[in-house]
Order: sequence, then C-alpha cells, then structure tokens
Amino acid sequence: MPELPEVETVRAGLSRLIIGKNIISVDFDTPKSFPNTQTDIDAFLLNTHFISARRRGKVLMLDLSSGYSLMIHLKMTGQLVYRGEESFGAGHPNDSLIGELPDKSTRVTLKFAQGGVLFFNDQRKFGWARLLPTAIISKEPFMMKLGPEPLEDSFTYDRFISQLKRRQNTTIKAALLDQTVLAGIGNIYADESLFAAKIHPQSIVKCVPQAKLRLLHSAIKEILLFSIEKGGSTDRNYVNAEGKRGSYIDFAKVFRKENMPCPVCQHEIIKLRVAGRGTHVCKYCQKLYKEKIK
Ligand SMILES: [Zn+2]
Repeated sequence: MPELPEVETVRAGLSRLIIGKNIISVDFDTPKSFPNTQTDIDAFLLNTHFISARRRGKVLMLDLSSGYSLMIHLKMTGQLVYRGEESFGAGHPNDSLIGELPDKSTRVTLKFAQGGVLFFNDQRKFGWARLLPTAIISKEPFMMKLGPEPLEDSFTYDRFISQLKRRQNTTIKAALLDQTVLAGIGNIYADESLFAAKIHPQSIVKCVPQAKLRLLHSAIKEILLFSIEKGGSTDRNYVNAEGKRGSYIDFAKVFRKENMPCPVCQHEIIKLRVAGRGTHVCKYCQKLYKEKIK
C-alpha cells in the first residue's frame, strides 16, 4: 500500500505538472472509484484548474479553482500517472506506471486543455477520488481522526508519547499502524523504524523503555525523509519524472528481506504476523518488551 513517502512523491510530482492546467474532460469506469454526481462534475471539476496539491497522512488533496478539491485515497493498489510533455507516475508499483494508458486498471482519466492526461489507476478498486468543497475536507470525520504528521516540527517526542498513550496495551507495531496515533505509516515504514530503534514489533507499548521510544521517534522521521528523497518505496517498475527508479526498497534493512542476513548481526531475518500484517524482524537486534519496567 502506498504510504506517506509514496503519496508525498505523487504530490510533489503532480504539483509540478498539473497546477494551472484546465480540465476539459473526465472519464471514469465505476462510481466506486469516482463517487461524484454529474452536477458536481459539471459545476466544480470541468473547465476549472488545479491550484495546489496537498497531502495529509496517506490522503492526497488536489485543490481546484472552483473552491472544490479532488480528495484521493490510493488504498492498496492506487497510482497516479501523468502523460504529456513528460511522464510521471507514482503510487502502487506495477506495469501501468510505464505501460500504455488507459489500461484495464484505469478508473479515472482527466484531460487538460494544454495537453497532458492524468490517469488514476487502481487494480483492486479500493481507492477513490471524491469531489468535496475544499473548506470542509479538514472537517471530514475521517480527516478529523488522523493523528499528527510525523514530519512536522510539531511532532515532538512528547507528542509521540502522548499519542502512544492511546494504545498502551497493544503491540508497538499495531500502534504505529494506527492512523489515529500517527498519520501516514504503513507496513514498510513500521518495520523499518522498529528495526532502526531495535524494538521487536510484538513489544507491548507500555513496556518499551523511554530511551527506545526516543530512538523510534527519530528513526520514523529519518526513514520517512530518506524514503521521500529516494522517491518512495518501489519495485522494479517504478520510474519517477526524472526517469529515476524509486529505490527505497533497495535500501530497506528488513522489509521483504526474510531469510536474508541481518545487515547488523548477520542472523537470519524472519517473517512473523503482527497486528494482522506480515512483519520482518531480526530477533537478535530487536528486543522484545513484554514486562513493565519497574
Ligand atoms: Zn540483527
């Protein structure tokens, strides 16, 4: 699933390519992916232009000159691809990022008067693109519940600790995945941050020593920033606007490295199920905390 760095990569690429371009047509194949009325489409999308591209957690908001925004959640397999004076695509990594479009995964197609086409592709159709008044987006229940942005300065260590208090009795991995605790972290960055902080993902939040939580807090920021710099996590097909492959996965220490040697101690990395998700761990480097420290 695209996580904060991938959505941030989409945001940065699109803000360079689509701002100021007039939308002259929209096609969509299923209302599930594009749940908007024809009246709203005519009034607030067609013949308007994008004025900014924002991100909150894993949600992308493309603001329109009409006072509405296209709010997009990529969910499991969503991606956005721009084709025009240059090609850009980010989000879920698969062949549609570089292949001929539209294809069978294309759900929404926006065409611009200046040339250029924006494709919202989503194989599994869990994602969506909704038109909403820009002013009410931050008041949507789903948005209200989102936790702090990990890369903002206001996300201090103290703030992290107070957010974790909401999930004292769960595993640390479940707490990191909880979007109300922290916005934007998914499976990849939870595993990588916990490895960096040497905390076993099955550790219970209230049992993890403060010094380790301090390490985790800074690891989260460092790893997300590093990944954004690399263009988000990817597989072989992901190519960004500069023709560079996003390469975070190549730099991952444990994610999808099961049966391979730990880069620190050389013991084998194992895969467990934690918080319902495949979880990558070095049992030797990552300490399990299940007893409250007195
Ligand atoms: Zn190790």
